[in-house]
Amino acid sequence: MVAGINPAQKFAQSVGLVRDYLAKTGNTNLLGAMNNQQLRVFSENMSENVLGANIGNKISLNSKVLATQSPEKVASIFLHELTHFAKQSGRNSIAEEVQCRSIEENFLDTFGKGMYGNDEQLQATVRRQYAGLPEQA
Ligand SMILES: [Zn+2]
Repeated sequence: MVAGINPAQKFAQSVGLVRDYLAKTGNTNLLGAMNNQQLRVFSENMSENVLGANIGNKISLNSKVLATQSPEKVASIFLHELTHFAKQSGRNSIAEEVQCRSIEENFLDTFGKGMYGNDEQLQATVRRQYAGLPEQA
């Protein structure tokens, strides 16, 4: 854990980073999703390889991630799950995961912390991690 920052403070900081990013990029769709009164966000104990999840109006963030990762990383995971929430597709797909990962990557790029060299790398990673999902919902 970052010294002097508890998970709740870190989450509040992460939400601020996401809000700033969405305002800066003019993403009114996701800003609207953030302000949706139905949205509930929880910190939960989740399995090691899961960072977060969205089901219906609920976003869960892995409490281990919240405790150990930087505010930027926590923010990127929240942004990813917020993108699922905004879509409300009810059925996940490779196309949706690529969209979520892309916005996550663009956000991390603003801090010089992007994970992929290019879109092809990002898509290949998503296809590997989500093998079994349909291409389109
Ligand atoms: Zn996802």
